[in-house]
Amino acid sequence: MLKKLFQSLRFPRRPANAVRTTPQVLNKSQHALTRAQISRHAVSVVERLQKAGYDAYAVGGCVRDLLLGLSPKDYDVATNATPEQVRAEFRNARVIGRRFKLVHVHFGREIIEVATFRSHHPQGDDDEGNALASQHESGRILRDNIYGTLEDDAQRRDFTINALYFDPSSERILDYANGMPDIRNRLIRLIGMPERRYQEDPVRMLRAVRFAAKLDFEIERHTAEPIAELAPLLEDIPSPRLFDEVLKLMLGGNAERTYELLLEYELFEPLFPVTARAMEQNPDYTDALVRHALANTDERIRLGKPVTPAFLFAALLWPALPGRALQLQDRGMPPLPALQEAAHELIVEQCRRTAVPKRFTIPVREIWDMQERLPRRHGKRADMLLENPRFRAGYDFLLLREQAGERTNGLGDWWTRYQDASDTERRGMIRQLSNNDSAAPVKKKRRGGRRRGPRTDRPSGE
Ligand code: ATP
Ligand code: MG
Repeated sequence: MLKKLFQSLRFPRRPANAVRTTPQVLNKSQHALTRAQISRHAVSVVERLQKAGYDAYAVGGCVRDLLLGLSPKDYDVATNATPEQVRAEFRNARVIGRRFKLVHVHFGREIIEVATFRSHHPQGDDDEGNALASQHESGRILRDNIYGTLEDDAQRRDFTINALYFDPSSERILDYANGMPDIRNRLIRLIGMPERRYQEDPVRMLRAVRFAAKLDFEIERHTAEPIAELAPLLEDIPSPRLFDEVLKLMLGGNAERTYELLLEYELFEPLFPVTARAMEQNPDYTDALVRHALANTDERIRLGKPVTPAFLFAALLWPALPGRALQLQDRGMPPLPALQEAAHELIVEQCRRTAVPKRFTIPVREIWDMQERLPRRHGKRADMLLENPRFRAGYDFLLLREQAGERTNGLGDWWTRYQDASDTERRGMIRQLSNNDSAAPVKKKRRGGRRRGPRTDRPSGE
């Protein structure tokens, strides 16, 4: 009882992972990162700013990744120069951003992102055009574009391993948040009080999982503990931001592991409510389909092959499709329109959480439509399907369904053989279909009542 009371009183205390006022400085002999490893464009941006009298450092993911022997996706620079001052130093620079201003310095295809040191503490005055930080009643920070000191900048970052500043000129690392020991011990640890940091920005929960999967790190106990309970806060995040985040989670090359962690921390449901419901109804099939889709995506990325969000969303929503279509049929809708309507509804529902742009939802529908068409191969149909620009995606999706255990009467294998066959062989394959019901033209009138069991040409995930 007394213990509970003490826990509920919030003593102002300095958490173990609070930001120091003076950083741990690591000289070049004390760490493995060298100037030569940093993109020369990032080095030139930092040095140019330093020559003009500003402080500037490479920071964030690039320092973290290089210390871990990975190659950074991009380079971020932090400086005390304002965006306008940064722009004035470079001819190839553009100020971007509404929520907070950043400068993009362009070098051909490489972009170095330069951000002014920021603070997330509300300030009393607004004399230099600095906007005040404002908070939502839930504690979510809505605007955090107040400039601050280097220390402030370290403090407002999410994880200790993301708050390391590297100066390529001296090759020193400044560590305000004990990030270096966490790199060594492979730990994702929030800076400050975890609960508060998640309330300020619930997307940090997704970032914790993303970095844990990408780096193969563990999420430190206090950082992990509040996640499951706070996961529903994601429902308040604008859907376009969640869509961006989902792409980073699923197209980063570690989607299968990410999926496991999302489930473990109860973050999957707020992102994919439709899939989560299908998973309750048909756990094995849904899990197998999603897992195979993600594993295939990871494999394609590893091989340098292109991947599309459309394929992923097609897979994530597919297991819910037959159930939804049947509900509509029960309300009197004929099977095909019911399927179309179900597809539409599921996509709309998903878009409420993650705003999937039309350029991806249209191909999702096309991939699904292909599943209806691939079994119908009579006459010229098979050849026409082969010419369809969506054939490949539809065929890959069919194989995915089979991988997940759906029975399709060997349809995937048939199409695999058909693609490799000569013209004569193809004619023979079509002729053989005559005895095969599933390949029969659709117009055929059904005898008896409406079929309710899973058909070979329909998703059986219901
Ligand atoms: P990667 O680029 O590999 O995804 P990253 O760490 O560079 O990883 P970015 O999203 O590019 O991630 O962000 C750059 C840096 O900005 C981070 O390292 C972190 O310091 C800070 N940051 C980004 N998002 C947040 C956030 N939601 N809250 C606090 N700090 C953040
Ligand atoms: Mg980055």
